[in-house]
Amino acid sequence: MEKSVYKRVLLKLSGEALSGGDGVGLDFNVMTEVCGVIKKCVEAGCQIAVVVGGGNFWRGVKNGQGKMERSNADHMGMLATVMNAIALADVLNQTGVKAAVQTGVEMRTFADPYTQRDAERLLSEGTVVVFGGGTGSPYFTTDTGAVLRAVQIHADALLLAKNIDAVYSADPKKNPDAKRYTEISYGEMLEKKLMVIDLTATALAMDNNLPVELFGLSR
Ligand code: UDP
Repeated sequence: MEKSVYKRVLLKLSGEALSGGDGVGLDFNVMTEVCGVIKKCVEAGCQIAVVVGGGNFWRGVKNGQGKMERSNADHMGMLATVMNAIALADVLNQTGVKAAVQTGVEMRTFADPYTQRDAERLLSEGTVVVFGGGTGSPYFTTDTGAVLRAVQIHADALLLAKNIDAVYSADPKKNPDAKRYTEISYGEMLEKKLMVIDLTATALAMDNNLPVELFGLSR
């Protein structure tokens, strides 16, 4: 088996990546596949932490705008990410991978609250740590949560699983002339407002020199 080039990574999985074709709910076949890949990486010697999104259940701004106060809508979004974290850790355990959930908001009956110390200890022991609840604060996204946790646990890189295989200057489905980037600086991403990850997340990654690798999650 090939040895992992990274010692420790943070994998960001959007809620959509855990759902079926319609982007809603959880598809356990897809999740089992994803967990199989994570297992191979763990066996190759890589320590893996995961930040899960919640868009397959609820996105604060998209689903609550005009109908709910923003913080309340975002609280619901964070709860959605915890549902995904619990499900992913469960499927990882079923796949034979040791996994634990930590939440950005305290809900001790379901999982331990996030602490950097416990997360780093679990990772060093070979446990996959799934972070739910994003940053624990409204007005943020799980992209920012992913960068934040990656920096806190001293990950070598943030791996972003997307439904697109690379960064493009425009949506390649709508614009066939869109430029495909094999590499791009944070500065250019910010300047061109290429929303690979949102602006807050990009700025935080830039401030902390966190390498971000994007790859397509093919179905
Ligand atoms: N959210 C939040 N603070 C965070 C992370 C997430 O308030 O630190 C809320 C926000 O409402 C967001 C929702 O949780 O829309 C789900 O997260 P996200 O949209 O990032 O999920 P993804 O698109 O990755 O599935």
